[in-house]
Amino acid sequence: MPKVFWVQCPHCQRKYYVSVSLKGKNLDLMCPFCKQMFKESESLWTK
Ligand SMILES: [Zn+2]
Repeated sequence: MPKVFWVQCPHCQRKYYVSVSLKGKNLDLMCPFCKQMFKESESLWTK
């Protein structure tokens, strides 16, 4: 089972998960709901 972590989009406030392999790299994450880019550090909620 792939390791994932949860983020909350600062644009639409929806939560979704991304692969843990992307965590901690300060990459731009793309929200699948609103298609906006944001940094992991901008996530409103991370688990
Ligand atoms: Zn969004």
